[in-house]
Amino acid sequence: MNIVVIGSGYVGLVTAACFAECGHTVKCIDIDKSKLKKLKIGQIPFYENGLEKIVLKGVRSGNLEFTSSYEKSLRNVDAIFLCVGTPSKSNGEPNLNFLKSSLRSIGEHLQKDVVIYIKSTVPVGTNHFAERYLSKILKKDLKVLFASNPEFLKEGDAVLDFKDPDRIIIGIKDNYVKKISKLIYKNFIKSSNSLVFTSIESAEIIKYASNAFLASKIAFINEIARLSDHYGGNINEIKLGMSLDKRIGEHFLNSGIGFGGSCFPKDLDGLIDRFEKNNIPTLIPRAVKQSNNEQIKYFAKKILKNSSTKKGSVLVWGLAFKSNTDDTRESPAIKLIKRISKHYKRVFVYDPLATANAKKDLASLKNICFINNKYNNIKKCDSLIIATEHNEFKKPDFDLLMTLKQKTIFDGRNLLNASEIKKKGLTYFGIGV
Ligand code: NAD
Repeated sequence: MNIVVIGSGYVGLVTAACFAECGHTVKCIDIDKSKLKKLKIGQIPFYENGLEKIVLKGVRSGNLEFTSSYEKSLRNVDAIFLCVGTPSKSNGEPNLNFLKSSLRSIGEHLQKDVVIYIKSTVPVGTNHFAERYLSKILKKDLKVLFASNPEFLKEGDAVLDFKDPDRIIIGIKDNYVKKISKLIYKNFIKSSNSLVFTSIESAEIIKYASNAFLASKIAFINEIARLSDHYGGNINEIKLGMSLDKRIGEHFLNSGIGFGGSCFPKDLDGLIDRFEKNNIPTLIPRAVKQSNNEQIKYFAKKILKNSSTKKGSVLVWGLAFKSNTDDTRESPAIKLIKRISKHYKRVFVYDPLATANAKKDLASLKNICFINNKYNNIKKCDSLIIATEHNEFKKPDFDLLMTLKQKTIFDGRNLLNASEIKKKGLTYFGIGV
């Protein structure tokens, strides 16, 4: 099939590369010329495990091409996947300007009938809006069918998730889209129920509801961890006890400093906006958001209460919003550093992947010192704060940790084994342990 993917970010690039790998001819359009320049020579503009290999494979095989030209790309296309960003506006409403601008370019250059899949996360009602919007711009009398195809990949595991999805959701209103979707996704359908066709509205809501639900689980366990802290319980035991109940399950029940990233906070805002715009009573999404913000404050307080911070220095491991990514958008680690930095003379920060992005986020703080080895300057620091659950933090060198002036670890991801650390003679503060 001839596929055009619009947007070469986390979602677009993974979609384009995976479709090309399974034999489709894919043109990936972006308006960011500097990104395209890199992609054309096989450089990935962000870190994503396993992506570079399949992008290179696609480019070399001729199945994958990067371009800024809508005109050339749309000459012979069967399906278009819209993967542009939909960031929040300051009032929480999703900003659909990138989507509208890509629709205007499609309208200008489309030459033939096509199916347009909206993969970007968009509020319920957007597919119908997009259909009306495009019909006013289209230069020719063409048949354009819209489908809602939300993406569920996780940064860090994006390629694996795309190739081996739990489910592929496609909201449709025309049976032809069913047929073409089965062809496009044939290599990724694992079982008879992994490709699910729904109404367009249901598909749009499924995406927001899924993200908000996962965010709720995190916020919930974090609140329970605060209770556990107060009464001297252990959140790991509590999690185990809860998760053995199959109705609850074990996923998204790790307590820490909360969720971040480009999706959960934005999608909670988008969901709240849809409820409120339509005067539909809602409490949970807003409470989840507030509870998550509270968690950073809670951990910051714990750090400041348990360290003699005046003029001291601290070492922070982790800047990315989660492990295995360089993405710092809405990162709890960055928020935590911003909250506590003024209490320290120097904050030494380390991340194996996200330093370049974090430098932009923390540019206004003058006492931040980026280091490229996680033990650099450890002897100058009172304590260590773990803010991201990168794998390489799981097995620290205890001899070096013992050189911390106050021999104290604040583990914002409950990554280390508290009793093992205490046995070594270090003081340990986790969350709910
Ligand atoms: P991103 O910001 O990383 O990438 C978007 C890309 O679109 C950018 O490269 C931008 O230059 C390009 N773009 C903007 N306007 C364009 C236009 N008119 N024509 C061509 N290209 C254009 O965004 P992302 O993280 O890939 O997210 C894309 C969408 O997918 C969002 O709606 C997001 O909520 C959703 N989503 C993201 C993830 C994730 O983990 N990042 C997961 C699931 C869904």
